[in-house]
Amino acid sequence: MSFLTLDRLDKSFGGSPVLRGVSLAVEKGEIIALLGPSGSGKTTALRMIAGFETPDRGRILIEDADVTPLPPERRHFGMVFQHYALFPHLTVGENVAFGLAGRSAGKEETKRRPQRVAEALALVDLPGFADRRVGEISGGQQQRVALARALAPEPRVLLLDEPLSNLDPTLRERTRRELKSAIQRVGITTVLVTHEQEEAFQLGDRVAVLQDGVLHQVGSAEDLYERPATRFVATFVGRASVLPCVLEGDGAVWVPYPPGDAAGPVRWSAVRSPEAEGMKPGEEAALVVRPESLAFVAAGNPQALAGRVIERRYAGPVTYYQVALAPGGEVEVLAPSGAATVGDAVRVAPEPRGPAPRIFRRNR
Ligand code: ADP
Ligand code: MG
Repeated sequence: MSFLTLDRLDKSFGGSPVLRGVSLAVEKGEIIALLGPSGSGKTTALRMIAGFETPDRGRILIEDADVTPLPPERRHFGMVFQHYALFPHLTVGENVAFGLAGRSAGKEETKRRPQRVAEALALVDLPGFADRRVGEISGGQQQRVALARALAPEPRVLLLDEPLSNLDPTLRERTRRELKSAIQRVGITTVLVTHEQEEAFQLGDRVAVLQDGVLHQVGSAEDLYERPATRFVATFVGRASVLPCVLEGDGAVWVPYPPGDAAGPVRWSAVRSPEAEGMKPGEEAALVVRPESLAFVAAGNPQALAGRVIERRYAGPVTYYQVALAPGGEVEVLAPSGAATVGDAVRVAPEPRGPAPRIFRRNR
């Protein structure tokens, strides 16, 4: 059985739906990264798990206990907010102790507080920092103090809202690693909200993709990248081009551009996504293809589409080439650096080493 379950959560603000039937099962000790663009409902979902928002419908369960009616303090969840706002005039230790202060403490517990603070600081790899001033430590260290403050009361679930967004990019990557190892050391069940794919991939055991309040897919980074369930996931996670196409047979698609060299229609094979199940031959669809699933090919290739390179993005040994196709539309092609320059006439065909192009419905 799952440790934390979100069961068909709905929420509207002033008549506009913000979460629609969100269901998610989190295993004990698992780190779930909730990934979505700004405004997709991530913070609302997290605040609802914490108990700061009430769902219009649906339930939140810990093991099989329904915690939906419980106020935040009775859920025993720890939360690190987007703006983690430490008290600058207090010491690190006093800030962490603040995490314990909300609880009605007996004499024994109050006596144990300094020890709990020290333990929490050791967990985030800041032993001996209790007497330092918050203003004297780095941004990455402050982030870990906020984490220690959330962990000190030994919560059942840890909730993190964009925990690294206050840090500059160079610090972010290192702090990400430190954050992950601290969470793993504690072994705590965690839901982490982020709008950055890289962060979600690095921190999450599984990633849940949210758009407009709808949970599109929950899976490993590989699942999302290689087997996206919806067109939104296919284009939001990783780089991809979208081409109009017409279905032919079960998996093969017909790309409806006047062919480059071939005399007839160009056929590319592709995999149907779940949402394209039941579509019929002749129906218009959308083909989503990763840059590494395309290559430049020589004249005479019957699968080639003709085009011209309009832009390139150098990335060391490889370059991303933006190609305008002769009849309209653009694709991005990953090829060795030096394979082409801007203005070159090229031919583009599928490259079987990359994930297979996938078919989605057209109007989504
Ligand atoms: P995210 O964290 O993914 O950026 P949010 O959950 O903060 O998204 O917000 C999702 C949507 O809900 C936004 O359109 C936001 O304006 C709206 N929203 C969030 N909280 C409230 C609120 N308390 N009252 C009204 N609208 C809200
Ligand atoms: Mg948010």
